[in-house]
Amino acid sequence: MKSYSFCPLCANRLEQAMIDGRERMFCSLCSWVHYINPLPVAVAYTVNENNELLVIRRAHEPAFNEWALPGGFLETGEEPSDGCLRELMEETSLEGKIESLIGVYHRDVELYGSLLVVAYKVFVVNDSITINHELFEAGFYPQHLLPKVRIPLHLQIIRDARIIQRPAFQQATS
Ligand SMILES: [Zn+2]
Repeated sequence: MKSYSFCPLCANRLEQAMIDGRERMFCSLCSWVHYINPLPVAVAYTVNENNELLVIRRAHEPAFNEWALPGGFLETGEEPSDGCLRELMEETSLEGKIESLIGVYHRDVELYGSLLVVAYKVFVVNDSITINHELFEAGFYPQHLLPKVRIPLHLQIIRDARIIQRPAFQQATS
């Protein structure tokens, strides 16, 4: 990831220093420190009434043309569960309901750097899909017909979702 060379507050040239146990760029004039934090992402493990899993084929980098679970970046001020359902709606027009939290993960991606990924199990009643420009295709598949998902994190989420017998978290409204 690229770093700042100049202070975004006062335009002074930044210096490197050991701050809170890490090498960071900081401004010796106004004390601004360039903390680099992971970007939050929500991913939806989405099933229909037949317990078929929704997978999408991505039309964008990263993981262009790969089968994946739908998801995307959370917006500022957005509940992670709301962001998860919003991304599902944007990509597939499906109206989902959060069933449980599957897990929280960290991954480093070349394009974006460090990601904090929150994965939810989502349930849909109406499973008719309209995809947007981010996808080549999308569909619900039974386990034995599932297209080959190769993204390691998504494989892990699929594995983790299947071993969760009882939801660790249940929304108060469900
Ligand atoms: Zn400064």
